[in-house]
Amino acid sequence: MNIAIVGAGLVGRVVALNLLNSGNHKITLFDKDTKEGIHSAGFTAAGMLAPFAELETAESIIFEYGKRSIELWQPLLKEIGVYDGFSYKGTIITAHPQDVSELEHFIGTLKSKIDEAKEIEMLDATQLAQIEPELAQHNKSFFIRKEGQVDSQRFIAFSTNYFDMREEITWREFTEVTTIEAKKVHLKESSEEFDWVFDCRGFGGKEYFSDLRGVRGEVIWVESKEIDIQRPTRLLHPRYKIYIVPRGNGCEGIDLEYCKECKISQTPNSKRYIIGASEIESEDFSPISVRSSLELLSALYTVHPQFGEARVVNTETNCRPAFKDNLPRIENKEEGLTRINGLYRHGYLLAPAIVEKALKEGINA
Ligand SMILES: Cc1cc2nc3c(=O)[nH]c(=O)nc-3n(C[C@H](O)[C@H](O)[C@H](O)COP(=O)(O)OP(=O)(O)OC[C@H]3O[C@@H](n4cnc5c(N)ncnc54)[C@H](O)[C@@H]3O)c2cc1C
Repeated sequence: MNIAIVGAGLVGRVVALNLLNSGNHKITLFDKDTKEGIHSAGFTAAGMLAPFAELETAESIIFEYGKRSIELWQPLLKEIGVYDGFSYKGTIITAHPQDVSELEHFIGTLKSKIDEAKEIEMLDATQLAQIEPELAQHNKSFFIRKEGQVDSQRFIAFSTNYFDMREEITWREFTEVTTIEAKKVHLKESSEEFDWVFDCRGFGGKEYFSDLRGVRGEVIWVESKEIDIQRPTRLLHPRYKIYIVPRGNGCEGIDLEYCKECKISQTPNSKRYIIGASEIESEDFSPISVRSSLELLSALYTVHPQFGEARVVNTETNCRPAFKDNLPRIENKEEGLTRINGLYRHGYLLAPAIVEKALKEGINA
């Protein structure tokens, strides 16, 4: 089939990878931005795969899709040559002594939603020190074993290189699609026909989905030579919750031009962490605010004082595409058109499973 994918962010890339494996298709990837994908929410994301922890605010269906996606991510990443971009070492949830009630409430909520949350383990300082020595000052924490993360920046960078190598793929970067209909893509001054079109525009899908909104999220990347944390760690706090997501040696292995383009410096022998994220009901893509910077960084500093010496190497802002119910939506109303949107704060957690479902129900791939 001759297929168009409009939007080469997270969802569009996962659709393309699935289609490459499912038949002899010719695929055109349209994006209004550069094919490097650095302006997509998929690039900004921390890439946490946290089906349990997300249940605090999400419905149990997110948990089910999340578990399936975790099974699907590894083969997808291997295919594009990312061998160190998936980790499945669990998540630490912790709080300061004065906020232990937050911690108990959080875990209580997860346990009330699904039976499997009963597996979540409580850790005292000694037990925590065995798996995360740098966090040993926390007297009470919880350990969720079956969670992980995808290195989202590596996924985006390596998939660009992979698509460049596949002759079935044609890139149409810097090409804004104005509207989409079954089997047709409309550009500013022309239209093009395909056998099937996938609308994966994320926030750009507002052109069609009038009930789609953007939820602003800001993250800060820091590098430290002193701190070595292995697992995504969430600090609960009555006013601002933060997560710290370890990224190993940052951009190593990623093409240098690309690093220059996203203006990310590399400090030798240091580890990079993504600190996030704000969640603001606003469709505002402007740079991170002073308030969010102060909140994220001061909370970070309380996790370990050595973070005071970490270097801030980058900040990112983007908008999560979300519907009112904060659930993903697949639309397969007509032959020749599939729309996938609303992955909200769960894009990495959901994309492989949602795409699998969308393809089965639509193009039957
Ligand atoms: C701060 C932050 C942290 C996050 N952390 C996590 C996390 O830890 N775990 C997790 O699971 N999820 C996380 N997410 C959520 C995740 O990033 C999103 O759910 C996901 O990226 C949505 O994927 P998408 O493909 O729909 O949109 P995007 O990834 O934004 O891709 C949409 C693409 O469509 C293109 N486009 C838009 N309009 C047009 C047009 N008219 N013509 C052509 N191209 C167009 C855009 O340029 C873009 O490349 C986070 C998001 C943010 C903002």
